[in-house]
Amino acid sequence: MRRKLAAGNWKMNGLMADLAQVDALMAAHPDPQVDLLLCPPATLIQSAASRAQPHPMMIGGQDCHSSQSGAHTGDISAGQLADAGARAVILGHSERRVDHAEDSETVRAKARAAHEAGLMTVICVGESLAQREALNTLDIIDGQLSSSVPDTATGENLVIAYEPIWAIGTGHVPGPDQIGEVHDFIRARLERRFGAGVGRSARLLYGGSVKPDNAAQIFQVSNVDGALVGGASLTAADFGPIIAAL
Ligand code: PGA
Repeated sequence: MRRKLAAGNWKMNGLMADLAQVDALMAAHPDPQVDLLLCPPATLIQSAASRAQPHPMMIGGQDCHSSQSGAHTGDISAGQLADAGARAVILGHSERRVDHAEDSETVRAKARAAHEAGLMTVICVGESLAQREALNTLDIIDGQLSSSVPDTATGENLVIAYEPIWAIGTGHVPGPDQIGEVHDFIRARLERRFGAGVGRSARLLYGGSVKPDNAAQIFQVSNVDGALVGGASLTAADFGPIIAAL
């Protein structure tokens, strides 16, 4: 069945010296029974990827452009990420949707470019607190999912991260029932659109304030295949126990 996946998102954190955390993580998990993905800032991708070999940990980016090259100052293409040693990319994180006004159509174009470059995509969806309180969560997820996921998705290159915006970096975590409801919904939607093969193979991660002390409970929820971890992925001391809980 689906292999578990622990993904770390360093966001705009980390200098060369912090790659010692990657070394510590690999040393603590020399033969992981789950897939590991660490997404440092772009400046560290190449160094992290070369340090990771031959360990199976994957290194990934946090965003890419929808074109493979061209006049796009400051942007990075999916092919460039792959060339630097990345095997995956996070797309449509709520911080990018808000800070850079990325809509789901943009995310879909980026995801298509990433798939063409051979990268696995971790596509993020999630509702705001106002949307949850207005009982719109499943409608929001449905819309983001159908518009953000391209037809190039396969069971191997598609990972969906459900990240309620109100849970990111706040210490507030939805209850198991709330996580399960959304994950079951995403699974059903993927199966309906892509069929059972892709729909059942794509992995679904929960993200938002996952910590060593709540990870085990979250991982018991149905259709949770792992986690996308922000703050607690920055140190091996915090990320290690989350990996061990999977
Ligand atoms: P957090 O971030 O674990 O710090 O809440 C998760 C994310 O934004 O991916």
